[in-house]
Amino acid sequence: LGLGCGAPAILTSACSSEAGAQDHGGASSESQWAMVIDVERARNPALREACREACDRAHNIPRIPDPDEEIKWIWSDDYQHTFPDQVHQHMPREQLELPVLVLCNHCTNPPCVRVCPTQATWKRESDGIVMMDWHRCIGCRYCMAACPYGSRSFNWRDPREFVETDAEGNFPSEFPTRTRGVVEKCNFCAERLRDGELPACVEAANQVPGGEGALIFGDLSDPNSEVSRVLASERTITRKIALGTGPNVFYIV
Ligand code: SF4
Repeated sequence: LGLGCGAPAILTSACSSEAGAQDHGGASSESQWAMVIDVERARNPALREACREACDRAHNIPRIPDPDEEIKWIWSDDYQHTFPDQVHQHMPREQLELPVLVLCNHCTNPPCVRVCPTQATWKRESDGIVMMDWHRCIGCRYCMAACPYGSRSFNWRDPREFVETDAEGNFPSEFPTRTRGVVEKCNFCAERLRDGELPACVEAANQVPGGEGALIFGDLSDPNSEVSRVLASERTITRKIALGTGPNVFYIV
């Protein structure tokens, strides 16, 4: 890809506004980026690690060894914790423990946005991405308490010390590094979408043998997009649907 907002068919419809624009909005978006994850195809450990690795590099995400202080944009959890309202005690253990890729759901009604006192997080009207501005974040962590999916991480330490640099001390990408005391999360690769590229995790999954199409990304408001077609034809679920948050990450199960 890398074709800009004028060209790539899969990524054109949500390009109407500059990706950095801050449209502090409510539940409705002109377009809505969405992802479909095929749970069975994405169970491959190499694929899941490739997704995380690509995301980490694209966003200079630190690898902090202490799990209580970890920064996670995309990670794996098991089926029973990912879909607690879809399981029962008699299901096969193999299914309950199936690893599932999880990330911010870029919810249609995001509770994290409602509780932020400084509008450091907002739902972008142009394309439905739930954005973050780390300069506005005061580290109150209300958004972390409000998110029912654990999709947000707090920087307890200076994250820059835990990002692997090259021999010259350069970070893996030009994406802005964060500071201690702010919250962060997946941004659906808004910076890559602006350049007409797919999210880093989707691109990485496509490059793993047998992984093409395990993660599908596109505009939900376009009935002809691949995500719309897959949702119309496959059996899909979202996480904790009863909460009414309206996740825009869907799972083929
Ligand atoms: Fe907010 Fe969590 Fe929904 Fe992401 S998954 S938009 S952080 S409530």
